[in-house]
Amino acid sequence: MSASFYSHLRQTLDEIAADGLEKIERPLASKQGAHVDVVDGDTTRTLINLCANNYLGLADDERLAKAAMDAIETHGLGMASVRFICGTQDLHRVLERRLADYLGKADSILFAACFDANGGLFEPLLGPQDAIISDALNHASIIDGIRLCKAKRYRYANNDMTALEDQLKAARSDGARHIMIATDGVFSMDGYLADLKGITELAARFDAQVMVDDCHATGFMGPQGRGTPHLAGVADQVDILTGTFGKALGGALGGYVAGAQEVVDLLRQRARPYLFSNALPPMVVGAAIKAIEIAEAGDELRASLFSNSAYWRAGLERAGFKVLPGQHPIIPVMLGEAHLAQQMASGLNAKGVYVSGFFFPVVPKGQARIRTQMNAALTKADLDEALDAFTSVGRSIGVI
Ligand SMILES: *Cc1c(COP(=O)(O)O)cnc(C)c1O
Repeated sequence: MSASFYSHLRQTLDEIAADGLEKIERPLASKQGAHVDVVDGDTTRTLINLCANNYLGLADDERLAKAAMDAIETHGLGMASVRFICGTQDLHRVLERRLADYLGKADSILFAACFDANGGLFEPLLGPQDAIISDALNHASIIDGIRLCKAKRYRYANNDMTALEDQLKAARSDGARHIMIATDGVFSMDGYLADLKGITELAARFDAQVMVDDCHATGFMGPQGRGTPHLAGVADQVDILTGTFGKALGGALGGYVAGAQEVVDLLRQRARPYLFSNALPPMVVGAAIKAIEIAEAGDELRASLFSNSAYWRAGLERAGFKVLPGQHPIIPVMLGEAHLAQQMASGLNAKGVYVSGFFFPVVPKGQARIRTQMNAALTKADLDEALDAFTSVGRSIGVI
């Protein structure tokens, strides 16, 4: 045991705190929902929650809780095995087939999280003769997955089709055998949608595969919530989809890859987070099956989600806030300097609204923001109350 090791760690922690970058976790004493009870010293306070990825409001849904409990009763608590030894239940295959149907793919494969799905996806599919071309704003798990793969790496500026074309040309002239373009379906800091029409057109011209991580879309974007490829009308041109059960589809846990049979079959043989990590527990699987059923038939939920989004966006603009344009329920309120985002977040917290400030290094310097997220469980009364709070705090710190 070396004391210098621990003092080095302490120094790093002190630096994080001194730079104002420390992330504080605030425990909730309630279920996740439109309102949450936040523990504050000896008491709890009920806040309107505008920062969950709970787009369809299903995180506290009774039907999902019942599906989870039913699965515990019939299939037990956990598998104590990876999938290929003795960890595959009928439920896992039901979910994989159901999900593939929902997304319009041949098959799908479950992972403990989408972080693992993205982490394990690239390495088995691509080798040193191949190329991966990645959007500069892709999620950390895609970046890590690409790092673990021996394919040559190329990067293009966020959603910039000219830059993507340049990289495709570079990969072709470098002699790449196979090329895969990797993108988020929705870029979560801005709520911007990937230009999947542009990407799939370029992919066709350069004979490339397309991989889309649709974590911030599956369940609510596009017809029946099938995601951004269906929304853009290019579902058949997107080869591989990854996603999560940890956001709109119930918010519990679990990720997946959906695609052609060969892709899924090879991942079952070779994807390291699949081979060397425990199978998803039955309760999570049972709830996910139910969540897909609810999402697929969830036009009413999507109608309230998008009516809330339009209402909230218009209200913020009317109050004078600078809001990024878009159609996604991620609605970032741009504030500029990090200290303004921090002041805004703590002022709102005091007024009963739970939001989170985002600043460097999560977003570029000078582009600090409060990222608000709508969900189907919020009411117009909630939004009016939150808007009053935004207006009063915004005025008091001089941003409107
Ligand atoms: C949330 C998210 C992930 C990680 O999903 P988990 O299932 O929570 O691991 C991966 N990619 C994107 C784009 C995400 O937003």
